[in-house]
Amino acid sequence: MSRVHNFSAGPSALPESVLRQAQAEMLEWRDSGMSVMEMSHRGKYFSMIAEELESDLRELLAIPANYKVLFLQGGASAQFSLIPQNILNGKAKACYLNTGAWSEKAIQDAKAYCEVIVSASSEASKFTQIPDFASWKFDQDAAYLHYTSNETIHGVEFQSTPEAKGLILVSDMSSNILSRKVDVSQFGLIYAGTQKNMGPAGVTVVIVRDDLVGHAAKGTPPVFDYAQQVKNGSMLNTPATYNWYLVGLVLKWLKEQGGVAAIEQRNINKAAKLYGVIDQSALYKNPVEKTVRSRMNVPFILADEALDKPFLAAAEANGLFELKGHRSVGGMRASIYNAMPESGVDALCEFIKEFERTH
Ligand SMILES: *Cc1c(COP(=O)(O)O)cnc(C)c1O
Repeated sequence: MSRVHNFSAGPSALPESVLRQAQAEMLEWRDSGMSVMEMSHRGKYFSMIAEELESDLRELLAIPANYKVLFLQGGASAQFSLIPQNILNGKAKACYLNTGAWSEKAIQDAKAYCEVIVSASSEASKFTQIPDFASWKFDQDAAYLHYTSNETIHGVEFQSTPEAKGLILVSDMSSNILSRKVDVSQFGLIYAGTQKNMGPAGVTVVIVRDDLVGHAAKGTPPVFDYAQQVKNGSMLNTPATYNWYLVGLVLKWLKEQGGVAAIEQRNINKAAKLYGVIDQSALYKNPVEKTVRSRMNVPFILADEALDKPFLAAAEANGLFELKGHRSVGGMRASIYNAMPESGVDALCEFIKEFERTH
């Protein structure tokens, strides 16, 4: 079987050239005489990989010098707990925006450490909008304001960075990091699991302003204390070495594509094509308010649920895989991250038009 167009929400498709390079370097990385998997994380070769990884990420996101970059384990989900543990810094409250399933999880986990103030919620609209900024409640005693920049399940994305009214802004960017330009200096902390838009699963990127490091609550496990990891270059214990290497290859690929600004333009084009086809049809529908639709995850429902199974089967017969929607939302979802070529979106658009024509 040849490689298919893979619309998985995560782990998700990787650039084919990255997989080929990993294949070519599987037995021996550069002149090291060994596979990356076999190297000591403290040795000179892996140190090169680690340094390039951080410097490429700093370059791609233009990360200011007063920010630390960590590559941790535990997934974005671990950060749901580690953020309050590390940056509450003695405060008892934190503000959260609730714009979908991932916001809800972050809120749920934070409640173990502080009082959560839900500044705004779009739950009543079944997470198809983002509440008007004017209605957000801010509490100046809160340690920070947390939001999910792209709701992977509901397909809702902030199109600009929200104002935090003086609070420290914290963002879960797991599913849209590196897909669009952001001004890192507006944030106190950005975090992302790598398996959506940066590589394989197994690494969590944390970008944190340096004054927020060093305030972990008593009892925070050392491997989850940002200060300890900063001091040790994210190597307080053995890191996920091979995954770091793969994320590094994806970053080099992104630089070859022209960086974040260039990929953002492609992402805009891909999303416009797909939403255009959905909006013009009578069979498919995307329920999200147009101004906050995600460029990365495009959920759509078919007018007749009985067509879901035939749709998925016919899609697979056409080389289009992993289109089943999340169980909580139903229908379909096409995830079109950086690595999804425009030709994959074109193939999907053609297929969904053809399926409507024949059903
Ligand atoms: C996938 C995802 C997560 C969870 O990531 P894990 O690495 O599985 O913990 C959290 N937030 C968002 C927005 C996601 O898309």
